[in-house]
Amino acid sequence: MKTIYDFRVFEDECRKLNGFNPKWLNDSKNPYRIKVTSKDPELPKIVEFLRVHQNKVLASFSMGKKYSEKELQLADVYQFSPFRRPRTDDSGEVFGTKYKTIKKCGKSCGNIRRQVGDLIFKTNLLNKTGHLFLTIAEEIIVSDAFRELVVKENLAGCSFGNVVEYNTKKVTRDWFQLFVTADTGRAQSPTKFGFDPFGIQPADKYICPDCDISGPGIISDLYIDRSSWPNTDFARTTDLVGYQLELLNPSPLYLMSRRAYNAFSNQGLTKDLYIEIAHFV
Ligand SMILES: [Zn+2]
Repeated sequence: MKTIYDFRVFEDECRKLNGFNPKWLNDSKNPYRIKVTSKDPELPKIVEFLRVHQNKVLASFSMGKKYSEKELQLADVYQFSPFRRPRTDDSGEVFGTKYKTIKKCGKSCGNIRRQVGDLIFKTNLLNKTGHLFLTIAEEIIVSDAFRELVVKENLAGCSFGNVVEYNTKKVTRDWFQLFVTADTGRAQSPTKFGFDPFGIQPADKYICPDCDISGPGIISDLYIDRSSWPNTDFARTTDLVGYQLELLNPSPLYLMSRRAYNAFSNQGLTKDLYIEIAHFV
């Protein structure tokens, strides 16, 4: 397993500052990007530079893990998320989907809300060869082929909602909204939350026990209590990650069983998913 850290920086600002090494910008097509692996000897220097100049230079951060096929096949349980596509800011809200506020919080969590009725979406924004999409508001849209596979394999722990095509205002049979319905309890220690694993950006104000929000993002492997695993093929944590900002919303972390992983892998559907190995404790 290899971890890849992806820092998006303001290149012009970086170049003005002492301690910056232009060689860190190793992607000539995207000079605002510093991409390093956990094994790169430059990593501590990069982190220190970003920590000192954080507000001026750091735009955003993401990280990902790369596994060997063998590591993936040996896991018991997987955390998964569809890749965030389409890349625009489109979400159900933009196209008129209705939501109901279920809790108002004075903190960064904002208004915790629940979708009411069908998801309304412009489905021609979805790539026809893809099977899973995540909107910026954490809504999961899946293809009919994905739904059929779940039904055929009898994979438990999820349900499907209608998607209403924005242009025709009719329910489409090509796309469905995926709801993970089985709960597996809260993420357990030693799961860690934050913006980044180095603590460059403080994240404490994004933790809210009242709304059960554990932090702005997960920055370690996900650990769950084996005794609270619902013995389904899909499950979600009861605590949420994220924060509310414009279209962004906090959401649970999603898990799938090895049986589900194998079913999707055999059909080539894992290409639309970001997958990390999770652990029982
Ligand atoms: Zn809150």
